[in-house]
Amino acid sequence: MPLMNSFLDHLQCTVCRRQFDADQVHNVCPQCGKVLFARYDLRAARNSITRDFSKCPPTMWRYRELMPVRDERNIVSLGEGMTPLLRATRLGRTYGCDRLFIKEEGLNPTGSFKARGMSAAVSRAKELGIRTIAAPSAGNAAGALAAYGSAGGIETSVFMPADAPGINKIESAVYGGKVYLVEGLISDAANILRRVGPQRGWFDLSTLKEPYRVEGKKTIAFELAEQFDWQLPDAIIYPTGGGTGMIGMWKGFDELEQLGWIGARRPKMIAVQATGCAPIVRACHEGKTQSEPWQGAHTIAAGLRVPHAFADYLILDCICASGGTAITVSDDEIVDCVYEVARSEGLFMCPEGAATVAAFKQLAAQGYFRPEHSVVLFNTGSGLKYAELLKPEFQQLEPGDRSTLITR
Ligand SMILES: *Cc1c(COP(=O)(O)O)cnc(C)c1O
Ligand SMILES: [Zn+2]
Repeated sequence: MPLMNSFLDHLQCTVCRRQFDADQVHNVCPQCGKVLFARYDLRAARNSITRDFSKCPPTMWRYRELMPVRDERNIVSLGEGMTPLLRATRLGRTYGCDRLFIKEEGLNPTGSFKARGMSAAVSRAKELGIRTIAAPSAGNAAGALAAYGSAGGIETSVFMPADAPGINKIESAVYGGKVYLVEGLISDAANILRRVGPQRGWFDLSTLKEPYRVEGKKTIAFELAEQFDWQLPDAIIYPTGGGTGMIGMWKGFDELEQLGWIGARRPKMIAVQATGCAPIVRACHEGKTQSEPWQGAHTIAAGLRVPHAFADYLILDCICASGGTAITVSDDEIVDCVYEVARSEGLFMCPEGAATVAAFKQLAAQGYFRPEHSVVLFNTGSGLKYAELLKPEFQQLEPGDRSTLITR
């Protein structure tokens, strides 16, 4: 007898709308090959749970009734989620925004918000009896998968670009994942996995090619609603690579409305990409519902180096339906913002997080926000993982030096 009650009901294709049994193993829609979403019996949930989570654990599993794991003994948790929503007072004041916030996802286990998706997906995989998992990754997903795999007793293999951040390669291997490096981009890594994975019986956990990583990401929406006392912010600026964060939040808001916990109003969803890899921004500005692969993708923000997101149509739909926008920022702007936020807020952002600050500054300069708007930026990972990208200046002293160099 399960010890808990998940309202998980079935899986549904995001395109052809066909329904599938949630208790069987699925990747994409067997009919049309598109993204499958987990669907819950929200009418039943509405009648039996309330939005009072004060007695629940301070992790994303506080929302477990709205999560896909049926038996709580299958939950693989390292304490992910319920990250701080910091008020960026000094930064906000500089750019005329009184209510600027930063959701600090760098405090998650493995130092990035990828922990949420992997905790949900590995837990559900364990519940469904899956023994070996593989995924391509531009960086942080690999480390998170390897960590949760080890915590859940599941073997993992990760496929990364050879030039992925050093820390991501090292952490994945230290956690006991099998690390395969590929000369190329994440799309090349994904192609190799697609060729070798099935013969070896590996379950493919590629971004949005299975239904449960996005369930972990949707808890960001639940937390934001809870932390804002069920009044959603006016705008969310999100660094968009494969899109799970954006898509997950959008799905989460939808579920909250069906539960009657929030109304129909939504934040403007603003996607940020790098000038060197901006397929979603290009498609958005051309009014397209799908993106074209980006040629020659390059940026220091590894999580944004995704030339062709499998779920591009869902990302574009969410930007459009929210009345948001998409914007590019350069690597130079990203580095400048890492320093600016570190020095005004005491927060060491990852490049992707700094990209949301650069986007905020651009939009604020265009008068996109009103002074009373509440705006949420996302720091998706800890800047400490990328310290090697920065070259700050030091003062060199000799032992016993009383040099005039020491000015303060
Ligand atoms: C993966 C990643 C992203 C992109 O996230 P998606 O939700 O897949 O678009 C952003 N920032 C960091 C630090 C990442 O690791
Ligand atoms: Zn389908």
